[in-house]
Amino acid sequence: MEKINTFDIMDDLQNDTLNKKQKINILGLSQKAISQYFQKKGIKEKNVNMRVKQVWSWIYSHGKISFDDMTNLSKDFRFFLNENFNLERPIIVKKQVSLDGTRKYLFKTNKIGEFETVFIPEEDRGTVCLSSQIGCTLNCSFCHTGTQSLVRNLETFEIVGQVLAIKDDLMDWDGKNKHNTKRTISNIVMMGMGEPLYNFDNVKDGIDIIMNNEGLAISRRRITLSTSGVLPNIHRVALEIGCLLAISLHGTTDSVRDLLVPINKKWNIAELMLSLKKYPKLSNSERITFEYVMLSGVNDSLEDAKRLVKLIQGIPSKVNLIPFNPWPGSNYGPSNPEIIEKFAAYLRKAGYSSPVRKPRGDDILAACGQLKSDSVKPKKANALLQI
Ligand code: SF4
Repeated sequence: MEKINTFDIMDDLQNDTLNKKQKINILGLSQKAISQYFQKKGIKEKNVNMRVKQVWSWIYSHGKISFDDMTNLSKDFRFFLNENFNLERPIIVKKQVSLDGTRKYLFKTNKIGEFETVFIPEEDRGTVCLSSQIGCTLNCSFCHTGTQSLVRNLETFEIVGQVLAIKDDLMDWDGKNKHNTKRTISNIVMMGMGEPLYNFDNVKDGIDIIMNNEGLAISRRRITLSTSGVLPNIHRVALEIGCLLAISLHGTTDSVRDLLVPINKKWNIAELMLSLKKYPKLSNSERITFEYVMLSGVNDSLEDAKRLVKLIQGIPSKVNLIPFNPWPGSNYGPSNPEIIEKFAAYLRKAGYSSPVRKPRGDDILAACGQLKSDSVKPKKANALLQI
């Protein structure tokens, strides 16, 4: 281990307007960013890569929450890490466990606001539904989050940190869970609070770490990002992130979709479909998923099913049918199960896989479209006080 000059570090810290109270959270930093920081702080270039990989391995493979537990690092290096960085995960403020085993977490960090995340255990997989924002700007009328004004975008450490904190809670580290069998979290869906494509850079950086083999090592094919249809950023999901794509469609005419997913007024169904037909790397093995919430008397007729098939013709895709999960104050009702089944049968006959999603965690408001926190954006004066 090279000797680190503490005085140089302190000079740099002053230059960077950093001090002991303002350490950098190393969670969410790419290997490249950490390398640059290490180099800047005087770690010998030939050692930088190895040091970065060691630290990443302790954080993402072994789940360590303290630099002092990184036992193959020298004392000097751990001192350097403690002086400059912290490893703060989001804190679980509240945890609710549904009768069906679904877990809903309310998180906070040292930044403003609280956010929710869900873990859904199934026989063959365990899925974490991540949030990308606190609140949302998009006001989709069937969605509980849509009733909460945007507080802020989540930062990269908060996006990755949701997975880390849930892995802690599930004791899902070192490739094995607490029962010593294969790991519990296998899939990620970016379908919690917020529109991920309005927080593109942080979401991209977070998913990069989640899918990196030296990070959380979850295959890109087990990660799905869902968007309401932010057209300018949709192709970037394939080109810059590389995970799977889902579209919150929910309506087959502009008049209905304008009401359910108001971003449709900006980018309508025809424009959306045109863009999806040109989606990079689209293939039968990497289909787009269309999310379609079934609302009684609103979008669940056979005519809707017929229009839907026409709309998605030529797009390798599947349709997830989601029975509506009511929330306090919602104006919609769930479609009758027989109607959902008829709708699904029509899609299947037309050649589209159309599973009906089983509501999970609805007794604790953890099901699809039910997430919301009490956080509000503080007025400017208050916001400044908290900086
Ligand atoms: S469905 Fe998604 S984009 Fe629409 S309001 Fe809810 S969180 Fe926002």
